[in-house]
Amino acid sequence: MDIAKEKLYDLLLDGLPVGLFVVDDKMKIVEFNAAAARLTGWLRDEVIGKRCSEVLQSSLCETKCPLIRSARQKKPLRGQEASITTKWGEKIPIFFSSSALLNENGQMAAGIEIFRDAAEIKKLEAQKRNFISIFAHDLKAPVSISGGFLERLLQGKAGDLTEKQRHYIAAIEKEILRLESYIHYFLDVSRIEAGQIQLSFTLCNLEDILHELVAGFKVKASEKNIAIRLDVPEKLPVVPVDKIQIERVISNLLDNAIKYSPEKSKITLRAWNDENNIFIESKDQGLGISEENLPNVFDYFYRIETGSDRRAGVGLGLAAVKAIIEAHGGKVWVKSEEGTGSSFFVKIPQKRRK
Ligand code: ADP
Repeated sequence: MDIAKEKLYDLLLDGLPVGLFVVDDKMKIVEFNAAAARLTGWLRDEVIGKRCSEVLQSSLCETKCPLIRSARQKKPLRGQEASITTKWGEKIPIFFSSSALLNENGQMAAGIEIFRDAAEIKKLEAQKRNFISIFAHDLKAPVSISGGFLERLLQGKAGDLTEKQRHYIAAIEKEILRLESYIHYFLDVSRIEAGQIQLSFTLCNLEDILHELVAGFKVKASEKNIAIRLDVPEKLPVVPVDKIQIERVISNLLDNAIKYSPEKSKITLRAWNDENNIFIESKDQGLGISEENLPNVFDYFYRIETGSDRRAGVGLGLAAVKAIIEAHGGKVWVKSEEGTGSSFFVKIPQKRRK
């Protein structure tokens, strides 16, 4: 590289607002930009030549090295979450992407990781949500008052209406009611997430809940000739859950599976357990979700528009699933391939963490 190009390269690397490091085929650091130094506390000269696992001590280094995974899968891993340890021993959460560069034999020749401070991003997201919550809260009264006046108009309290007037007002009232239910739903989910709603935990048999819900959803699925199969062992341990909220989680997953699946496809709802947790998987043969959209599907109001194929929804269902399961001390994740189908997973701990 000539001097001008080298300077430009350094300027580019150090101008990036995200941490970036490059490793060689032995996982030794060969590049470490200014933002990486800011986030980790290590200076570039201190880390060059060291193994990245030694420097970052990430929660994934030991068994799930993302660069090795990226090399094995022959594609970059995007939108991942982990924690790293700073020079001062502090653990910080990060969002990162990893890309392995392969040589002609398919082995890793070099790897790049890009990372950002997740705590900072989560704080900004919480602030944004708080702002929307205030806005939604302020919208509640005018929307509800407008709905009330429309109802009075429809009841003829301001005089007789023509058929056309009645028709238009009924249509507006329907939309107002829809808006009202979105506002309530959003406020409800954000309160669960903020811990402002106390969940009501009782020991429940998830097997019964799943059987009941599947029986209900079979009717809706039959309209699209979709078959739902339930695969649950006979003896699932009872778990402390808020029954109504868990029903909401499963309903949202089944509702989406039906909504985003073609006619005559199959949905499987599966449950199993290990020593500490219960797992539920909702698997469909639907539209699937592209890799670039996958990291965001649990975000508030995130919807994927696929051309003219815009299905009813507002983008709150999966945000509710995540907020409810995390309030139970559990986790949610998704595996999906565009055009093939999706599997949504839920993990619920068998014991409540105090
Ligand atoms: P909504 O369904 O109201 O749009 P959700 O939060 O439930 O909102 O889902 C967010 C987005 O994730 C949806 O708009 C859809 O694009 C995608 N999605 C959710 N579930 C599935 C699924 N089973 N198959 C394919 N895409 C899905």
